[in-house]
Amino acid sequence: MADIVVAIDGPAGSGKSSVSKQLARKFDFAYLDTGAAYRALAWATLNGLEFSKLESGEFESEFDYQISTDPDDFWVRVGDSDVTEAIRSTLISESVSAVAKIQNVRDFMKRLTRSIVEASELKGAIVEGRDITTVVFPDAISRILLTASEEVRLQRRSTEISATSTNAVVNQVSKRDESDSKIVDFMNAADGVTLVDSSDLNFEQTVEVMSAQIEADLKARTK
Ligand code: C5P
Repeated sequence: MADIVVAIDGPAGSGKSSVSKQLARKFDFAYLDTGAAYRALAWATLNGLEFSKLESGEFESEFDYQISTDPDDFWVRVGDSDVTEAIRSTLISESVSAVAKIQNVRDFMKRLTRSIVEASELKGAIVEGRDITTVVFPDAISRILLTASEEVRLQRRSTEISATSTNAVVNQVSKRDESDSKIVDFMNAADGVTLVDSSDLNFEQTVEVMSAQIEADLKARTK
């Protein structure tokens, strides 16, 4: 079991994933992208799994999910299919919030996330998502909300999805954040959660600030 859990939440385009991967490398911790499981479940519903089974909870026995926690060898699988690339499609991004708002799904994801962290042999894990600091690991040693202004987030996402027009990116990111924030509040830091605003920071600076915060939290814990 990874004893040290670092919980990182934030909206789309906040830089969460790339920053979390870098932090995992730096601390030699496992890296867990929790959004990938929601995306993979959305993929499954578009590839044969009946949507009604999400509400009834029947999906649990049919959803065979595996994810790598190595930031340098990242993959996601559903059954025999490697869905690492497929779950990043526009279609999945547009359908994932509908999956994420089902309470049975959220309860399952909480158990799934905790069990993946428990199975890790490394001493710590960087776990990123929307409700990690508040619902999944409210007891994490380090809890950080990584944000950035909407303008900066949209800009970062358009660079990532270079083939897509700016309008499509605005639609994808803003609409998804709007639906997601009705489910969990990841725009405001909960009690005990440190807010890091990366609007004026580049990637290296963000990693620096986050590392310093994690070090401080670890130090406070061992005192
Ligand atoms: O992080 P990413 O953008 O890949 O997440 C995909 C979707 O999964 C989010 O838009 C949200 O609907 C859902 N999600 C969630 N709770 C998490 C992580 C992701 O509801 N902890």
